[in-house]
Amino acid sequence: MPHSASDHSSATVHGENIKALRETGRLLAARWCPSPNYGPRPEGSTINLLVVHSISLPPGQFGGPYIEQFFTNDLNPSEHPYFSTIADMRVSAHALIRRNGSVVQFVSLLERAWHAGRSSFQGVDECNDFSIGIELEGADDIPYTPEQYRSLAELTTVIRSAWPAVTSERMTGHCDIAPGRKTDPGPAFDWPGFRASLQEAQPGNHSAERPRKGAE
Ligand SMILES: [Zn+2]
Repeated sequence: MPHSASDHSSATVHGENIKALRETGRLLAARWCPSPNYGPRPEGSTINLLVVHSISLPPGQFGGPYIEQFFTNDLNPSEHPYFSTIADMRVSAHALIRRNGSVVQFVSLLERAWHAGRSSFQGVDECNDFSIGIELEGADDIPYTPEQYRSLAELTTVIRSAWPAVTSERMTGHCDIAPGRKTDPGPAFDWPGFRASLQEAQPGNHSAERPRKGAE
């Protein structure tokens, strides 16, 4: 197949081979923890939206296996009173960024994860059809960690390299596409800081792919 001059398909960004990512939807940097809670994206749909979420189980508590159990339908309702209210839900996200910045992937980015629910972005409903959903382990009013912001910026840069339709205007929070129903990632999420970190990590900005304390 002929490649245009602007084709970055074989490029590596933050250790991810963009061509392979487009073909498999699997992030090499993530631990794979497959969830059954997904389906195919509608025929002809384009990935063109990033949705940032937050979750902690039990709410406000970090660490533990519960988020992974929740997204894989393995949460024990008797382990915590809150769990009994959600254990039957069938939901997922494409990936989770833990407090230490490590990434767990549940659903191929090519598939339709069940993260947004009833939702609308700029007049288009059913955001799950065309979005990638990233969860941060956290809570609306507790600051997210620098490690999480760094991983999210790297992940976003990789995603936008593979799917350039995810423009800077097409990154949003769950609270913004499901207002009145969802509040995550909440006021604690630093959108200006996150957006500024993306400028620094643009693909083609070589400093982003080298150790920071290099000769530059
Ligand atoms: Zn959410």
